[in-house]
Amino acid sequence: GKKIAVMTSGGDAPGMNPAIRSVVRTAIYYDMDVIGIKHGYSGMIEGNFEAMYRGSVADIIHRGGTILHSARCPEFETVEGRKQAIENLKREGIEGVVIIGGDGSLQGAEKLAEESDIRVVGIPGTIDNDLGGTDYCLGFDTAMNTVIDGVNKIRDTATSHERTFIIEVMGRHSGDLALMSGLASGAEYILIPEIKFSSKDVCDKIQQGYERGKLHSIIMVAEGVDEDLKPNRKKSESPAFDLSNEIEERTGLETRVIILGHLQRGGSPTAMDRILASRMGFEAVKLLRDGKNKLMVGYRNHEIISTSLSEVLKEKDKINHEIVELAHILSL
Ligand code: ADP
Repeated sequence: GKKIAVMTSGGDAPGMNPAIRSVVRTAIYYDMDVIGIKHGYSGMIEGNFEAMYRGSVADIIHRGGTILHSARCPEFETVEGRKQAIENLKREGIEGVVIIGGDGSLQGAEKLAEESDIRVVGIPGTIDNDLGGTDYCLGFDTAMNTVIDGVNKIRDTATSHERTFIIEVMGRHSGDLALMSGLASGAEYILIPEIKFSSKDVCDKIQQGYERGKLHSIIMVAEGVDEDLKPNRKKSESPAFDLSNEIEERTGLETRVIILGHLQRGGSPTAMDRILASRMGFEAVKLLRDGKNKLMVGYRNHEIISTSLSEVLKEKDKINHEIVELAHILSL
């Protein structure tokens, strides 16, 4: 049979483990040998390979993180680094690789496929949900639910103490997590990098709301909104703190900041992420088995699809403007 490998790379996301499990067990079902590459592209360059069996992926379907570990690897962005990686894969007799990761990881995947005769299929795994070719990336649903859990708790205390809370959510370039979890948790304001806003307008609205008798609000901020805030301020590490200072200065209302941070990367994957991971892993192995190359598996309109990596990496702006409008209407 054929020999393939599976790897996780870049920012980790809940759902990576059930995806690894699916890849390994599907490959074995089809009589293929399967190797796990540890620590992303670093492991590819260092030859950190491990044979995987049915039992290697036992008892991981419910676990966040990735048993293969993940890493960032600048060396893979050089031709020499990739040459070394390709040499290692060839020596091991690996004909195809399933790469689970985000935008950067899939850019690397495309280069790997272009510079060798090793076939590559990607699986989208990032809580940012910022990849083309799919409605959902692995980890997004779990991260949304983690954010919502947090906001539920904040809401209790916000109501009791009549305070404004600013909740900073991950997403350096994409506001999808802030937007969707903001809608689902009934946030009064959702500030994301894709939509221009003025912090003065936000302050004015909070002030008007307060005068109408609104005693607390929840403001959801994506970490990537930074540049939209008051331009001449001394920037702190976080846009949420900057906004909080501005609200207190302008309105005199007490605000509190919660940075959810790496909490959002962890946790047991939701049913949705486990099912998606299982289906995507299965499809990725079938594509390699059929000799397909340079594709990413995706999920659209309840179907598992695949799209060329080059198209996936070109597609941009994943914000659904109907959702932006809806979140606004429901918060008035
Ligand atoms: P993510 O996959 O979550 O977006 P990164 O952007 O950090 O995470 O990318 C993960 C790894 O993918 C990088 O450390 C690097 O090894 C590889 N990579 C990223 N961009 C490229 C690129 N343009 N060419 C080759 N490899 C890349």
